Amino acid sequence: MRSDKGLYIHVPFCRKKCPYCDFYSVVFREEFSEKYADAVIRNIRHYGGRFDTVYFGGGTPILLYKEIPRILAEVDFEENAEITVECCPNEMNEIALKTLREAGVNRLSVGIQSLCDEELAVLGRTHSAKEAENSVLLAKNAGFENISADLMLAVPKQTKNSLRKSVEGISKLGVTHVSAYLLKIEPNTVFGKKTPAGLPDEDETAEFYLLAVEELEKHGFHQYEISSFARDGKFSRHNLKYWKRDEYLGIGPAAHSFRNGKRFFVERNLREFLENSTQKTTVEDDNVNEDEEKIMLGLRLTEGVELNEKIEKALKRIPRRFYRVENGRLSLTPEGFLVSNSIIAEILENLNIL
Ligand code: SF4
Repeated sequence: MRSDKGLYIHVPFCRKKCPYCDFYSVVFREEFSEKYADAVIRNIRHYGGRFDTVYFGGGTPILLYKEIPRILAEVDFEENAEITVECCPNEMNEIALKTLREAGVNRLSVGIQSLCDEELAVLGRTHSAKEAENSVLLAKNAGFENISADLMLAVPKQTKNSLRKSVEGISKLGVTHVSAYLLKIEPNTVFGKKTPAGLPDEDETAEFYLLAVEELEKHGFHQYEISSFARDGKFSRHNLKYWKRDEYLGIGPAAHSFRNGKRFFVERNLREFLENSTQKTTVEDDNVNEDEEKIMLGLRLTEGVELNEKIEKALKRIPRRFYRVENGRLSLTPEGFLVSNSIIAEILENLNIL
């Protein structure tokens, strides 16, 4: 039996909270591991299903490496499933990597963020550039060939030169994928309470993004989504499900799901997740507007969306440099991605009015 479903398992543990991060996570304690894995397994059994991608996100899921084989043994996944674990460079030791590899994990997403020590210090990361580089080499020695690196853009102290160096260094490591994100100041974070000095302004931020796209392309990373770049066709099969409106099940506090046309999420509450026999979910949207979602999600991708008369009318009000029209499809240019929210709003307004 084939399946095109994704499974997301949220692991809400980190050694220490980074000052910019608003993902749900608490400080890791070893005694959480077994109980957490038990709760995940109870939910896997409860929902059932067969999956062709499994993604351990967080938090820092590699902290749970001893339990990941036990969890994966409970998942019914296809033979060629993509199984990803997010990692922090300083948690990637030989034993952890070997354990993951033997359990069937075949993709790692490494939170490198930058290969400039000054930027890493501003971001409160607990690893150096050298440690980040070594972690990828360790992963390759452990047999991982499909490795993604996170790269942060518009960080205080970042310069065009330091960004070029980070891209070049990441490229030399031979990773297959890069997720390049703009640093966003979220209200409930340390940075949200006290903005760090030296943040680039809006124009400089845009320049960093456009430079990253250009440099990544130069090094063979093809942009396929606003923040995602792949070499040799190694797209994130799991993340593509989010943008293509395929179904996915999310397990763990703060995890989101899309099943049977409904979107639902689990509260950000670790204790509740550990204590309940199955996770408590809240329906986010049980009346999903398919047309709107197709545009909102499809325009994140460089393959874009199919053109129609209403979209064409909306385009008359959008500057030409922000989009491309090719083979009956509309997609945004890198400049367009920077203002994608307003472009999408313009198109949706047209869809609803006409
Ligand atoms: S950025 Fe990653 S390591 Fe840092 S707090 Fe957030 S989830 Fe944890």
